[in-house]
Amino acid sequence: MQAHDGMYIDGAWRPAAATEKLEVTNPADGTVIGTVPAGGADDVAAAVRAARAAFPGWAATPPAERAALLGALHDVLKARHQEIAETVTAELGSPLAFSQAVHASVPVAVCGSYAKLAADYPFEEEIGNSRVFYEPVGVVGAITPWNYPLHQIVAKAAPAFAAGCTVVLKPAEDTPLVAQLFAEAVHEAGLPAGVFNLVTGFGPVAGQALAAHEGVDLVSFTGSTAVGRQIGSAAGGSVKRVALELGGKSANVILPGADLTKAVNKGVANVMANSGQTCSAWTRMLVDSEHYDEAVRIAAEAVGKYVPGDPKEETTRIGPVVNAKQHARVTGFIAKGVEEGARLAAGGPGAPEGYEEGCYVRPTVFADVTPGMTIAREEIFGPVLSILKYEDVDDAVRIANDSVYGLAGAVWAKDEEEAVAFARRLETGQVDINGGRFNPLAPFGGYKQSGVGRELGRHGLGEYLQTKSLQF
Ligand code: NAD
Repeated sequence: MQAHDGMYIDGAWRPAAATEKLEVTNPADGTVIGTVPAGGADDVAAAVRAARAAFPGWAATPPAERAALLGALHDVLKARHQEIAETVTAELGSPLAFSQAVHASVPVAVCGSYAKLAADYPFEEEIGNSRVFYEPVGVVGAITPWNYPLHQIVAKAAPAFAAGCTVVLKPAEDTPLVAQLFAEAVHEAGLPAGVFNLVTGFGPVAGQALAAHEGVDLVSFTGSTAVGRQIGSAAGGSVKRVALELGGKSANVILPGADLTKAVNKGVANVMANSGQTCSAWTRMLVDSEHYDEAVRIAAEAVGKYVPGDPKEETTRIGPVVNAKQHARVTGFIAKGVEEGARLAAGGPGAPEGYEEGCYVRPTVFADVTPGMTIAREEIFGPVLSILKYEDVDDAVRIANDSVYGLAGAVWAKDEEEAVAFARRLETGQVDINGGRFNPLAPFGGYKQSGVGRELGRHGLGEYLQTKSLQF
């Protein structure tokens, strides 16, 4: 893992205009593992210039050629799988096995899906007496978070490349090393200079400059709802398109008759994965009153398997959270849950035994959570599950939808059609039925304050296109 002391702009690593630096820290032990430049407005301007200059050529490149380059990028990411996993483990603190299975593997699948979609997508169609063309939007400003750092980069860059857009990326301050690795992969794959550009730096400086830049046609942002609002305002000033993938507080609804043991175990696993730092995590488990106590018992037992450990060890299932600020935030929510009267079924305040030093949180399950409690309303972004009780199906729908968010969710039922009927009543962008399986082609994105737009598959590609119709 070698940090570059520069920005990747116009096909090469170039010295940053800004002199400030950004230290990258391993949250498991607090060691500094790299230093990268903290770019400013001049760095953003240079990157946007390069992206603008590259745009006409890239937009005119036949889709089949763009597809071939995406295929080459897929191959490089696949070849560097282990290096990617180790980098994410070092800067995010996620267990190596999870980094291998998810952080390094999902981007390969997504990139592969866009290599195929770029070749197959109908960039032109006839509608009655019109010919309709789907043309690239232009220069994309991509701003990404740290929780699935490479996936979130690829989920923007790959469809943008497929569409014929050029990209300037500002990755999260906590995880710039895997972003640098992605820039290396783009270079190795042979994408033309300027098609992808990287500016590392702080959100309110580099991110803000990118969101407000006149030369950016679309800002694609993934992160918190609070920052999403600021991005929307900054982008609105220059009337550019905005795609927002924001926070969530997803419900995991277990209907009577469902396989309770499986549903609760999967529900716990979903919340504990990545130390709970998943925007779509099923953080509110909803169980009917008859099965409630049994569900709490199963959940408390299941969470016992998540013994915090060194992320580098192959057997570790849960590591620290990403940084000290996040640690303070998550432990603050746990304290708030206790204060507001929720019952601790597992975990709680304080550090896990033997892990008093790093950013470790005790995997926690709260029972007797009511919909008005802070822990049932706010996105905690840590290994904390709240279990709520419902009286009947209508009550479950009401509780599940009682949120400003609407990103994801899950429904478990004996009868799949019963689960589908319930899922149709949820105000949320994606629902897993009886566990579900990740589908890189399925549209992902939020209802309500969870966002605007969709990522992945052809819906994700569509975000990077604008429509022109010719009438005959
Ligand atoms: P964040 O909003 O703090 O930061 C996200 C990115 O925005 C970072 O690159 C940051 O540097 C940048 N940024 C911060 N302030 C900015 C500003 N004023 N102008 C421009 N850019 C700015 O979020 P985070 O803490 O990195 O990530 C966690 C959040 O992301 C959670 O709320 C989570 O739910 C959300 N998230 C959503 C999805 C989704 O697909 N919906 C996926 C992952 C994470």
